[in-house]
Amino acid sequence: MPQPNAPDTSADAAPPPDDPIRSGLSKKTLAAQAMGHVDPVTRAVVAPLHLSTTFIRDPDNAYSSGFAYARPDNATVREAEAVLAMLEEAGAGALLFGSGMAAATAVFSALEPGDHVVAPTIMYWALKRWLREEAPRRRLDLDFVAADDLEALRAAMRPGRTKLVWIETPGNPLWTVTDIAAAAEIAHAAGARLAVDSTAASPVHTRPLSLGADIVMHSGTKILNGHSDVVAGVLAGSQADAFWARIVSIRASGGAILGPFEAYLLMRSLRTLHLRAAAQAAGAMALAGRLRAHPHVSHVLYPGLPDDPGHAVACRQMEGGFGSMLSIRVAGGESAAIATAARVALWKRATSLGGVESLIEHRASVEGPGSPCPPDLLRLSTGIEDTDDLFRDLDAALRAAHAP
Ligand SMILES: *Cc1c(COP(=O)(O)O)cnc(C)c1O
Repeated sequence: MPQPNAPDTSADAAPPPDDPIRSGLSKKTLAAQAMGHVDPVTRAVVAPLHLSTTFIRDPDNAYSSGFAYARPDNATVREAEAVLAMLEEAGAGALLFGSGMAAATAVFSALEPGDHVVAPTIMYWALKRWLREEAPRRRLDLDFVAADDLEALRAAMRPGRTKLVWIETPGNPLWTVTDIAAAAEIAHAAGARLAVDSTAASPVHTRPLSLGADIVMHSGTKILNGHSDVVAGVLAGSQADAFWARIVSIRASGGAILGPFEAYLLMRSLRTLHLRAAAQAAGAMALAGRLRAHPHVSHVLYPGLPDDPGHAVACRQMEGGFGSMLSIRVAGGESAAIATAARVALWKRATSLGGVESLIEHRASVEGPGSPCPPDLLRLSTGIEDTDDLFRDLDAALRAAHAP
């Protein structure tokens, strides 16, 4: 930020790594150093937390700092947004919201009455429920389709009328993989935009915008923050077109911006995102392999497994791992699944995902009637604990739940 009366630090400061490609630095480097930002006033290597809700207007009536009031914009929020935009290679930049749901619903709120929307049958349950409730009231014409089936997706398009295709990959809680590049081609051919809920993949494993998507959404509550202590949401856009401008305006006027303290914590977490995501994905992969051979597990759902239906596409569009999320289906059905979750000691029985501590959840109990989630499914969010400890705990719980 330009600061009045700031000492001139241009001589010894690193070149501003605004363009990660031109600067030649890797994303891991740029994230670890929060884009190399040094506070121009104090020379602090950690940016200050800006809590002020209002900013001084210049005598000539302008706002030369670029800040006027904290609902549309905030300096601490901007720091984290710059890192997220870099990670997502977002031409339009990134926007932080007060939750993943606030981010996702801002995209649907930018549509016009009468627009046709296609969303996947396997998707984050709360967003599906919101769409079912809100689409009729907003006169959005909504179709759910098995988006990983590209022929079904193509058949769902109404050229000229379909304005948004929403996909989630890997899709919660079955970790269904959708081909982002193919979905973008199908959406664009019909005149629609493609938005991707990439929460489970994180920017470390998938770059939806580089694969042709127009908007990428994350629940920042999950692996981006990764410490289960912030609720946040992110949108990143490929280009600053009229639709993106509408989303910016919806956040500014609707007041859904993330609070500065949450943005500060999120920024702190983004510095270690690459380490956490890599470790958690490696842990999930190891667990998936061991659980597959378990006598009390009938299926392991994880795109990293070679015989997973999404594996080939996942290999093409994911890098550095397949994410920290997997699900198992427990032999013995729903009661055995619930009994297993009841018997873990190390895994925490809780909803949410992506944190450094591992969580287990009987997902059908959360989603309730009408959910496509099998009743014998346990959703596992792999943290950074020792994989042997995690396996032993789950193994003991599975065996205890199946004891005669
Ligand atoms: C958690 C989650 C959301 C919603 O995010 P919140 O931060 O809880 O509002 C959306 N999509 C996916 C895939 C999620 O896991």
